Amino acid sequence: MYIIIVGCGRVGSELARLLSCEGHNVVMIDKNPTAFERLGGGFNGLSLTGNAFDIDLLKSAGIEKADVLCALTNGDNTNLVIAQIAKKIFKVTKVLTRIYDPSRAHIYKSLGLDVISGTLLFASMLRDKIIESKLSSFFVENPQMAVLEVLIKDKLNGKNVKEINTPGKSLVTAVIKNNPEAKEKIVIPDDNTSVEKGDMVYLAVKIKFISELKSALDI
Ligand code: AMP
Repeated sequence: MYIIIVGCGRVGSELARLLSCEGHNVVMIDKNPTAFERLGGGFNGLSLTGNAFDIDLLKSAGIEKADVLCALTNGDNTNLVIAQIAKKIFKVTKVLTRIYDPSRAHIYKSLGLDVISGTLLFASMLRDKIIESKLSSFFVENPQMAVLEVLIKDKLNGKNVKEINTPGKSLVTAVIKNNPEAKEKIVIPDDNTSVEKGDMVYLAVKIKFISELKSALDI
C-alpha cells in the first residue's frame, strides 16, 4: 500500500516502522526535520519536511496516488484540517485521524472521519486491566461489545464450544491450546471443539451480559 503519515513523532514514527517492515511504501511528513531521527536506520521510505497544510508538499508526497493518509500530529485541529484536505480534495480512500480530546471524537465522526482517540483507547485499556483480572478488550468504537480472554479452569474443563456459547450473548471465536502436543496451537472452533484446563478461549460478548456470563462461566 502507499501510505502517507503526517507527524513523525512518537506515534507516527512507530507506525512507520511497523508498516515499512511489512514492505509498504511509506512517506513521512513533519514540520520538524529532527523528528525523522526517530525512524532509525531501518526505515526505507521517504521523509519530507514541511507543514502538512501545504498542498504542494502533499502532492510531492504522492497524495494523488495514496491509498491511506494518517493524520498523526499532536494537534487535533491540525489533524482535522489535514484529514479534510485528504478526503475532500484528494479523495484518499482511507483517512485516519488521531485525536487527543475524546469529546471531539463525535464531531469528527459526524464529519465522516475515521477517528482514533489514543486517550479513549488508553483509558479503556486501563479500565480493563483494573476491572477484569484477565485482559479483555472493549471495543472503543463499539462499546456494546467486548472480547474476553478466558483461561479454562475446572468448571469448563472438557466442555465443547457448543456448551460454552450462549446464543445472542456470547460466542467462542478462538481457542489457544495449552497442550504442547496439540496438532494446532490456535484453533478456530466449531461447535464440537472441546476445551481443556489451561486452554485460553477468546469470547466475543455483548457487554450487557458480561456479569451474567462471568458467573455462569466461572471467570
Ligand atoms: P507526537 O506527539 O510525539 O506523536 O509528535 C507529533 C509530531 O507532529 C511532531 O513531530 C510535530 O513536529 C508534528 N507536527 C505537528 N504539527 C504539524 C504540522 N502542521 N505539519 C507537520 N508536522 C506536524
